[in-house]
Amino acid sequence: MPPESSWKTELLAMLHDRWATREVFSLSDAYGFAETLTSLHPENKHVEDKVRQVLQDLRDDGEVKFEDDRGHYSLLKPTLVPDDPISRESDSELRGTLLTIRDLDDQVVTSERLQGLIKGFGGHKGIYKPGGSERALWVRQTSRGVYPDKDVVPQSDGSWVYLYSPEGREGKIDLSLDTNKGLLKCMTDRVPIGVFRQAESESGKTRYRVLGLAYVEKLEGDHFVLRGEGNDVTLPPLENVETTFSPYELSSHRLGHVARVLRDRRFGISVRRLYNHRCSLCNVGYMLSGRSIGLEAAHMIPVESGGNLGDSRNGILLCRNHHALFDQYAWTIDREFKVRVADDGELRESAVANHILQREGKILPNLPQNRVSYPATEAIDWRLDAFESAWK
Ligand SMILES: [Zn+2]
Repeated sequence: MPPESSWKTELLAMLHDRWATREVFSLSDAYGFAETLTSLHPENKHVEDKVRQVLQDLRDDGEVKFEDDRGHYSLLKPTLVPDDPISRESDSELRGTLLTIRDLDDQVVTSERLQGLIKGFGGHKGIYKPGGSERALWVRQTSRGVYPDKDVVPQSDGSWVYLYSPEGREGKIDLSLDTNKGLLKCMTDRVPIGVFRQAESESGKTRYRVLGLAYVEKLEGDHFVLRGEGNDVTLPPLENVETTFSPYELSSHRLGHVARVLRDRRFGISVRRLYNHRCSLCNVGYMLSGRSIGLEAAHMIPVESGGNLGDSRNGILLCRNHHALFDQYAWTIDREFKVRVADDGELRESAVANHILQREGKILPNLPQNRVSYPATEAIDWRLDAFESAWK
């Protein structure tokens, strides 16, 4: 008889293959694996009972969360996607840390909470290289840091560039230091590192913005060039990412479910970052406990029309109201990023107190810092065509 733990491992792998962290699924969804499990354990005649029991075991292990008492669950811990670059790290504990850092991407988290989530976070500022590992695991930039680190520059593929100064002795860079060598090793091995940057403190608590995972791209002059993971984590970020925009999904690159769910989530994160956590049309943005709320990354060319879901130039950040109106083609933008509102009496009458009328004919007040990351012309044209045919 196979050991009990094999049930847990098998069901957990199936759940991870189907749902990403925090996606809610039901008991009947989980029963969907009964047939496969029966073929693996033909001796068990009560597979559904067993699935319920294993879900409870997984809850006790901290893998699964019970969302309510009506049979809704979610996965608590992030997992590797197929072809995940994190799998190049052979130590499972370090892999787990990298997954946790990816899961916290772009959140502002108290130092206290990070210490609970990430082993070793408390004691190490600057470059952290765990004992027994040749590679660095993360860099942590404190605001009182002595090194002149530059700002984060987000890119259209969801990646970003951050210049990080090596550690030195007596004001001089010393590449023979263990910590610097650890970063160089990450560069050669193409294993990502975590990047944390101290944020404004809140009621006396030190907080960090988790910039996510990054590759050590090169050592240039007096700094390391760190490049964040792109929206599609299985594609290594390219040095020159501001390439030609592809309006539609590339069929040559088929993603598994988990990678797709992760990419959708990362698309949202990267569009939020590009638009600095404010609605492009009305500038509204709310932060609560380190996360922006009420904002949604809208697709210019929608999912159902085959729009590119990995490139932030097919996206725009909107508040929920303006997203709902955008989806109904109540308004759109032209090639000059000026707002166009539908010529519909009922809409205009009902929208008097709405920003769309005040913004009509004017350029969107909130756009990415770099023009290359603005919505792509092809995507704008697609919307404009759909908008015009909707109100013909
Ligand atoms: Zn808005």
